[in-house]
Amino acid sequence: MENLTLKGKVILEGVIELKTGMHIGGTKETLKIGGTDNPVIRDAFGNILIPGSSLKGKIRALLEKKDGKYVKDKGGYLPCNCGNIDCEICLLFGPHDSQNIKEPVRIMVRDAYLQLKDEKKPHDYLEIKPENIIDRIKGTAQHPRFIERVVAGSEFKFEVVFNIYKESDINLIKKFIEGMKLLEDDYLGGSGSRGYGKIKFKNLKLICKPKEYYEGNAEKKKESNIIDGLDDSKIISELENVWKAINFNQ
Ligand SMILES: [Zn+2]
Repeated sequence: MENLTLKGKVILEGVIELKTGMHIGGTKETLKIGGTDNPVIRDAFGNILIPGSSLKGKIRALLEKKDGKYVKDKGGYLPCNCGNIDCEICLLFGPHDSQNIKEPVRIMVRDAYLQLKDEKKPHDYLEIKPENIIDRIKGTAQHPRFIERVVAGSEFKFEVVFNIYKESDINLIKKFIEGMKLLEDDYLGGSGSRGYGKIKFKNLKLICKPKEYYEGNAEKKKESNIIDGLDDSKIISELENVWKAINFNQ
C-alpha cells in the first residue's frame, strides 16, 4: 500500500425521507407473539434504523451496474474486486477482497436512525402490510404473509464520512452523490418491485475538516449552506467551495 497521509475529512449529513413504506428485514428472535412474519430491523433498544451497510451496499451496487464494474457469479453478481487505483468503486468502497487493497478505503457510512417527532414512539412509525399470491385459476389468495414496514413520511438522519488523501478524491465524492441520485430512482430495502422503499435525500450539508482542524486549529473547518436535495446542482458548487479548506501542498 502506498504511504498516503490523510489530508482531511468531508462529512455529508442530511435526512432520508421515505416516500413509500420501507422494509429492511431484521431477525425473528426479537419478534413478540402476535407480531409479523417479517419484522423491520431495530437495535437492541428497539430503535429503528437503516444500517450503514445497507445504504452503502445499495449505492455501491447501483454504481457498479451503471459502470459495468461487477463480477458475474453463479448466484448473481459480486462487488468489484479489481483494486486498481483508477477504479473509483474500489477507491470509495474498497475491493471485495481486502487482500487487493492498494489505497485506504475512502468512505464510512453510519447507521441512519429514525427521527421520532412529537413524542411518538418507534411503533407509531410501523405498519403491517399483508402480501399474498393470487391463484390464477381460482382467484383466491394463497400464502398470505405479514410484512412490517416503516411508514411513508418517516425521516432518518444519515451521515457519510469521506477520508481525503488526494486532490482527485473530490471526484469520488461526486461519484457517491451520483449513486445517491440513482438510489432515489430505485429503492432501499426489500420488495422494491412491489413499490416499497422509495426514498429522497433532503436537508443536506457538507462539512470539510482539514487535518489542521484535528491538530487544534478549529477555525479551519468549513461548512456549506443547507442544500434542499440532489436535484439541485448547488450540491456540487457547495462541495467545490468547502473543498478549498484542504491544503494539498504540504
Ligand atoms: Zn474495482
